[in-house]
Amino acid sequence: MGDDPPISYDVLRDLFERLDRTSTTGYQCDRTFALTERFLRQRGLTIEPMIKWLGKNGAGCDCEVMMNTAAHGRASSATGPLTRATNLASRLTPAH
Ligand SMILES: [Zn+2]
Repeated sequence: MGDDPPISYDVLRDLFERLDRTSTTGYQCDRTFALTERFLRQRGLTIEPMIKWLGKNGAGCDCEVMMNTAAHGRASSATGPLTRATNLASRLTPAH
């Protein structure tokens, strides 16, 4: 399967949390991956494969990443790769 995200689920969960937190602070999406890119850059990760992966999974900008991942709480029928990744990521609890 080529559906696996190019970053670890651990980092993926952190990214989702970052986007989620930012979305509650009045963040206005400018139809780009500005937040996602900044997050990846801060961690020294390659941006391009992740953006491609998100695009392939129905997210065209930061807020669409949040919209797609927000579905994991209620829609058990949602089985897209992004939702699956979110479910996996949310299952990883911090070690401390
Ligand atoms: Zn957006």
